[in-house]
Amino acid sequence: MDIPAKMRAMLLEAPGTPLRLQEIAVPRPAPGQLLIRVHACGVCRTDLHIVDGELPQPKLPLILGHEIVGSVVTCGAGVARFRCGDRVGVPWLGSTCGRCRYCRKGQENLCDQARFTGYTVDGGYAEYAVADQRYCFPLPPVYGDAAAAPLLCAGLIGYRTYRLAGEHVENLGIYGFGAAAHIVAQIAVHQGKQVYAFTRPGDLPAQAFARRLGAVWAGDAGAVPPQLLDAALIFAPVGTLIPAALQATAKGGSVVCGGIHMSDIPAFPYRLLWEERLIRSVANLTRQDGEELLAIAPRVPIRTEFQIFALEQANDALTRLRAGALEGAAVLVMPGPP
Ligand SMILES: [Zn+2]
Ligand SMILES: [Zn+2]
Repeated sequence: MDIPAKMRAMLLEAPGTPLRLQEIAVPRPAPGQLLIRVHACGVCRTDLHIVDGELPQPKLPLILGHEIVGSVVTCGAGVARFRCGDRVGVPWLGSTCGRCRYCRKGQENLCDQARFTGYTVDGGYAEYAVADQRYCFPLPPVYGDAAAAPLLCAGLIGYRTYRLAGEHVENLGIYGFGAAAHIVAQIAVHQGKQVYAFTRPGDLPAQAFARRLGAVWAGDAGAVPPQLLDAALIFAPVGTLIPAALQATAKGGSVVCGGIHMSDIPAFPYRLLWEERLIRSVANLTRQDGEELLAIAPRVPIRTEFQIFALEQANDALTRLRAGALEGAAVLVMPGPP
C-alpha cells in the first residue's frame, strides 16, 4: 500500500482551545514501532481532562486518542509480533521502561517513565499513528472497528477498576453510567452480580440504558440503593460521589475510583469509612489487563454501544461527552482508503 506524505489530524495546540484540523506529515515508525492506518478511535473522558488542562504537561501540539483500532501498514526495524495488514488495537499505555521498581514488580501501570498514547505521545485522532508493537493488542475478530474501539480504554480501565473491587462482590454499584460503566455492567451481570447504576440526578435515559444492560436498580447518584453495596465503582469525575458511595457501601466494602482526574473530595465523617471500608484509585493499565479483557469480551459477549463521528467532528464528540449527551461511547471513524 502506498503511504501518503501527509495526513489529516485533529491537533490540540494549547489546553483550553478547540482541536484544529491540520495537514501534517505521516509519522515514520522507529525501530520496534508499527505505522498504523487508523480505522477508528474512541473518545475518552481523559481526552476532555487533557483539553481542559486538568492533566499536567501533555505533549504539545498533541494528537489525542488512546482507543485506536487500525491496520499495520509498515513495520519499523525489529518488529516480529505483527505483520502488514494485521488489525491491532492501541491502548493508553504506550510504553514502559521495563527497569524501574514498579516494572520489576509487575506493576507496569505505575512505571516511572511510562508514555501514554494521546497524552505524552501522539494518539489516534488522525489518519495514521505509530505505536510500540509490544503494547499493541490483536483484537477479537467478532468486533468491527468502531465496536472494538471502546474496549481499549473504557473496557480495559473499566475492567481493572472492576477487578480491584475484589472477589467477593455480590452487589456492585456503578457511579457514572457512560462508556466504561456500560462495558463493566455487562461483565458483572454475566458473572452473576447484582448491578446498581447511579447517574446524574434525573438522567432517566441513562437509567433506562443501565436497566436495559441488566442493572437490577438504577437511580440518582445521591439515592440510597435498596441493598447496601459490597463495592462501588466511580467513573464520574465528581469528588462528592466518594462520601455518597461510602454511605451506600456495606462493612468491609470498597469504593474504587476509575478516573484519572476528579474534583476535590469534600470532608466527611470517619464513620463512613470505618468498619474496614476502603477507598482506592486505579491508574492506567497493564498489558495483562488488556489481554484478560479482550479474552473475556467475546465470551460475555460484551456489546459496545457507540455513536460515530467523523475525524473533523472530534470537538462535537468531546462537547457531547462533556454534556453527558452520549449513550455508550463516542468513536471517530476514518474514511477507508480511496
Ligand atoms: Zn518502569
Ligand atoms: Zn481513556
